[in-house]
This record gives sequence, structure tokens and C-alpha cells, in this order.
Amino acid sequence: MAIRFKLGGYETVHGDPLGRGYIGYFPRMTEDEAWEAGRGVWKVSKDKISRQRFALIAGEGIVRAVAEVTGYTEHRTDTGTRVALEGASLPAGHPLREAYLGRPDPVANGSQNPVSYCDLPEEQSYLVRPCACGCDQTSDRDFLPGHDVRAIQQRVRDHFDGSPLKLIRFLDQHAATVAG
Ligand SMILES: [Zn+2]
Repeated sequence: MAIRFKLGGYETVHGDPLGRGYIGYFPRMTEDEAWEAGRGVWKVSKDKISRQRFALIAGEGIVRAVAEVTGYTEHRTDTGTRVALEGASLPAGHPLREAYLGRPDPVANGSQNPVSYCDLPEEQSYLVRPCACGCDQTSDRDFLPGHDVRAIQQRVRDHFDGSPLKLIRFLDQHAATVAG
């Protein structure tokens, strides 16, 4: 899941927890400006926020920035604790940026809530998940570096008497069925 923040109208602010002079959307804002305006401060579940890797910032129904989230900070305000995301807008060429930047807000649920969560198909390959070798560590790829080789070697030991040649002969014999 990704998180989507909807920018309000442009307004100048004083005593902003992030030290900003203004918040909200204004025409022709850059991606960095949209991220800075949209990354906080929000009333959100810290548990939920800590599981988001990507954030979309929307203004006037269009995605103005796509950012990678690296953490969050908490801020005491008169109206309770608020959270601001840390991270940076994605560089040109990143698949998530290219898929959403400048396009309509993908969360079109009619809700007035500026904070929403959405599933983005493009983020699936970036989600942190258990390393497939079974080492109980996590990775944003199928395997941590080198763990794919380790997993294959383990299977050679377990099922092919430690002989890579036996594995290869087995695969050559069965690959057509496996691939199908
Ligand atoms: Zn592993």
C-alpha cells in the first residue's frame, strides 16, 4: 500500500512544526515543493504510516509528487500529535513516478479525508517482504544479495547429493514441464 495526501489550498502559516512559511497547493509548484508541502503534518496512525514505502501528493485532483518514504517525525501541536513523513521525491525514470506524476489522483473515493491509502500495482516489486531463502530477514527483492545462491546450494545438498551436475541434469529433463 501507498499513502496519498491531498493538498489544501495555498496558505501562509506561522509556527509550522516543519518551519515552513506556507502549505497547500499552488499552480506550477515543483515536485520538491509539493513533497515539502504535503509530507506533513498529518493526524495518522503511526503503525500504518511506518509500513508505507511510497507517498503520493495530490493537488487539485492531480498527482504533484511521488516520493519514497524513509521515516517519519512526530510533532506536538495544539490539536494533538501530528506526523510528518521523511523521504524525497522520486527521480525521473522511476516507474512509480512515471506512472502517477501529472496524472489524476488514483484515490477517487469521493472522501474529503486528505489522507488515504491505496494499492499501486507498480509498487509490488518494491515492497519489503521475507527473503525467499528462509533466513527470517527481509528484502525489497526476492532475495537478499547472495541468498539466492545460498538457497540453490542448499537444495543441491538436500536433493542432489551436493552435485550441481545432478541438479542440471534434473532441470534439463524437467524444465519444459516446470516452465509450462
Ligand atoms: Zn535470505
